[in-house]
Amino acid sequence: ESRKANNFIRNLIEESIASGQHQGKVVTRFPPEPNGYLHIGHAKSICLNFGIAETFGGDCTLRFDDTNPEKESQEYIDAITRDVKWLGGDWTGDVRYASDYFDAIYDFAVELIEKGLAYVCALNADEMAEYRGTLTEPGRNSPYRDRPVEENLKLFREMRDGKHEGGSLVLRAKIDMASPNINLRDPILYRIRFASHHQTGDKWCIYPMYDFTHPISDAMEGITHSLCTLEFEDHRPLYDWVIDNISAPCKPRQIEFARLNLNYTITSKRKLKRLVDEGFVESWDDPRMPTISGMRRRGFTPQSIRNFCDMVGVSKAGGTVDLGMLEHAIREDLNARAPRAMCVMRPLKVTLTNYPEGQSESLTLPVHPQDPDMGSREAPWTRTLYIDREDFAEEPPRKWKRLAPNQAVRLRGGYVMTCREVVRDDSGEIVELRCEYDPATLGVNPEGYKPNGVIHWVSADESVDADVYLYDRLFNHEAPDSDKSVDFVTHINSENLIVKTGARVEKSLAQPRNDIPYQFEREGYFFLDEARSTAEKPVFNRTVTLRDSWAK
Ligand code: ATP
Ligand code: MG
Ligand code: MG
Repeated sequence: ESRKANNFIRNLIEESIASGQHQGKVVTRFPPEPNGYLHIGHAKSICLNFGIAETFGGDCTLRFDDTNPEKESQEYIDAITRDVKWLGGDWTGDVRYASDYFDAIYDFAVELIEKGLAYVCALNADEMAEYRGTLTEPGRNSPYRDRPVEENLKLFREMRDGKHEGGSLVLRAKIDMASPNINLRDPILYRIRFASHHQTGDKWCIYPMYDFTHPISDAMEGITHSLCTLEFEDHRPLYDWVIDNISAPCKPRQIEFARLNLNYTITSKRKLKRLVDEGFVESWDDPRMPTISGMRRRGFTPQSIRNFCDMVGVSKAGGTVDLGMLEHAIREDLNARAPRAMCVMRPLKVTLTNYPEGQSESLTLPVHPQDPDMGSREAPWTRTLYIDREDFAEEPPRKWKRLAPNQAVRLRGGYVMTCREVVRDDSGEIVELRCEYDPATLGVNPEGYKPNGVIHWVSADESVDADVYLYDRLFNHEAPDSDKSVDFVTHINSENLIVKTGARVEKSLAQPRNDIPYQFEREGYFFLDEARSTAEKPVFNRTVTLRDSWAK
């Protein structure tokens, strides 16, 4: 299936198994926070974590990292679960939640207090920041740092029981206010938040911080390798401190890798949420979005995204990947698998003057020119057809490969025809071409003359009206959020969508497939948009253009 290129994490696991340093199952996890929809960056983490579990015959859990109830919701949980499954993530056991461990996390906090390794602090946020120091200045000890254990235990219990106001007290680890690593300067472990939680309701009014929750959740699930992105590298000492100072059921190892950055793309749930909230796109699954659900709706296949992640690889070195690589991955997959069909985007009527009125014959075309197993499709040939306006030129340039007055083209899978007359309306616009077809040319070259090329077409009467949505880059800046002094939304490409109504698709698309995009020959890959389609009119999203077309 997937190519599963080696990377430094896989190598490291292999070596630690070979040397006997690692024993037993390899267990990884994918730990999204349910505060938005997953994006292409998350796909990298999903492929990495599930891929490693698969390679090493281990397990991978799906765990919602749900410690910020105000920003989280069931909608996000449902969307994330759907997207992970769609990408092929096959998690072990039930979906987990960090909130499943709130009782255990509370008990571990009590354990730290009892060991004299945590205390309840009453500094407010400003004071806290001031006491923390800076990169160059050490911090100062909080005046509450030496509270007796009993008092800490009592206050922490009271915090849990709702006896103190939100923001008035926090529980902090007692580590080292002079540490060069700011994460170790008595980090906050728990804060008071009177917020209902999507999983635990009103059971809690204190919530553990990410840096305390994550190592404990990992340990509770028997995670052996906790893979995260590089910004957590200098949190690792805290991760290890937590594991080493609680009676943890196991000792997971945190390993960091570089985030995926794509040019012309935003990969941050928070920023993507702004695009939705402020109406720059219609929804999280808008096909312009780099979300998994947006990409799915646009026509990306799970295989193409997995292949892309494999191409990108996993390393410690950051960098930005070209959007072209993602497009390459989807083209490669669809070129091999997409059924072919014809869609005329800008229909121009053609009348075959020598084909009898009311007559029709059924032409047979392959669903895929290189894959006979995909079968065939029927296209009705009638007196009136549509071709694309752009495939006709009254005064053709040199080497014109399409239709022009008194010149011939082949209609894909059909006959050769020659244009004999151009019909205009009162305003001078071309409204019809009157052509002669050559009945001796079905699948056979004509005698004595040579057609210019091959163009696509549909029957006028026996085709289906459709709308097509053509997408361009969402941003017209390579790194839309690189300059912190400029709001990234100013880089939105105002021409990121062109809607073409009145396109005509071949008759076989009256009931379009919803499981894979089509290749509309010479136009690109297009996927049925079920949300926008009606029983009368299908709507298609252009997944990606063709790099090359066979007749242009
Ligand atoms: P965002 O800023 O978009 O919310 P996040 O890292 O806060 O990203 P999480 O929901 O915490 O999002 O991410 C779940 C997992 O996916 C984490 O292990 C995280 O490191 C990983 N991840 C998120 N974004 C990327 C990315 N761009 N490249 C690789 N991995 C990522
Ligand atoms: Mg996160
Ligand atoms: Mg985040």
